Amino acid sequence: MHSFHYRNGTLHCEEVNLETLADQHGTPLYVYSSATVRDHYRRLSGSLHSLDHLVCYAVKANSNLAILNLLVREGAGFDIVSAGELFRVLQAGGKAEQCTFAGVGKTKAEIAYALEAGVHSFNVESESELAAISEVARAHGKVAPFAIRVNPDVAAGGHKYISTGKSENKFGIGIERVADVYAKAAKLGGVRPVGVQMHIGSQITEAGPFAMAVERMLPLAEKLKTGHDIEFLSIGGGIGIAYQSSLASGENEWWHRRDTPAPTLTLEGYAAAVAPLLRGLGLRILLEPGRLIVGNAGVLLTRVLYRKVTPAKRFVIVDAGMNDLIRPALYSGYHEIVPVREPARDARRETADVVGPVCESGDFFAQGRELPLTNAGDVVALMSAGAYGFAMASNYNSRPMPAEILVDGQRAAVVRERQSLADLIRGESIPAW
Ligand SMILES: *Cc1c(COP(=O)(O)O)cnc(C)c1O
Repeated sequence: MHSFHYRNGTLHCEEVNLETLADQHGTPLYVYSSATVRDHYRRLSGSLHSLDHLVCYAVKANSNLAILNLLVREGAGFDIVSAGELFRVLQAGGKAEQCTFAGVGKTKAEIAYALEAGVHSFNVESESELAAISEVARAHGKVAPFAIRVNPDVAAGGHKYISTGKSENKFGIGIERVADVYAKAAKLGGVRPVGVQMHIGSQITEAGPFAMAVERMLPLAEKLKTGHDIEFLSIGGGIGIAYQSSLASGENEWWHRRDTPAPTLTLEGYAAAVAPLLRGLGLRILLEPGRLIVGNAGVLLTRVLYRKVTPAKRFVIVDAGMNDLIRPALYSGYHEIVPVREPARDARRETADVVGPVCESGDFFAQGRELPLTNAGDVVALMSAGAYGFAMASNYNSRPMPAEILVDGQRAAVVRERQSLADLIRGESIPAW
């Protein structure tokens, strides 16, 4: 579900007119729907009601304080991958005890910070990391709760850069070696096993790989439950979302095209595939969804600057660039592009590349896409930009980062100001010599 729809000819987010927001706050502009975030969180948590579970939102997908605070109020936990993300969760009103700390390259300073804050657990990705955690914990007179991230050797994920659960990926410890590592940990001191974890990839649009990975984990989890007293199994994140035809319903179906196959996984389908496998296990189940919670909850509004027609191609040049939304350049990510003014039924169409102003050929949002004809000054929405959108934005080409708006019903609040030119050089200096 999401809360973006045409009303009286203009695209709205919940009750708020997106053209008005673009006029008031300028473009490029990220806009998020609170209702969609809440709906996805509640539906996922609700679909697993038969299990003792905790949804730990993967902060890296969208780490704006207002989004985190919204999830704090829903009772979510958080999956963090850096000290910075833990700081954000705490600033948003979240509790460290609800945070699982993931990532292959935690520094000792990050480990110490997380330990002092009292995180729920460290998800350990290598034996040397476990040794480092043990060392830091002993120096601080603490015992660090940990879970080992298991690499179950299952192929999944929408793109080679977001597949993490194969044995050749840098993530996790091979399933055949895990029991050994738990045994060694018992001798280290300063660490206490509390769980076991896996995460196989991102934008996975079928239930099969999730079920297969859970099935591989079950015998291991059973063994660790008796041998090491573990309390939880985290089954990671990675649930894919629909990037296509997000507005296609009834009236405006006609101009939506399915450029890529639509995913088949629903949230209910995911729960139906994994919950029965986990029900008898007797462990608490943790989940780490990022994209599923926020992906469809955000759009990036951008204004058409110019049109350019060459003998080979037509280009629509917009004011957002790959620095604002890098998914198409990085992962061939697909974003539906829709005009904020609803096109007439008989509107002219064109096949064009939608490109940004950044000096890179990879700076495009769509190539050879059939779209309703747009003119300079028109605002278009890049749909489903709530996950890995702003979170991956940069200042490349010295472009100030866009503002972010959170909508709730009729209300809209600026939850991050647009950067100014002065922001671009903050912290820089010219040496006196
Ligand atoms: C990125 C990541 C997630 C979230 O992935 P989504 O595809 O956004 O659900 C969860 N767990 C770990 C360990 C991750 O690295």
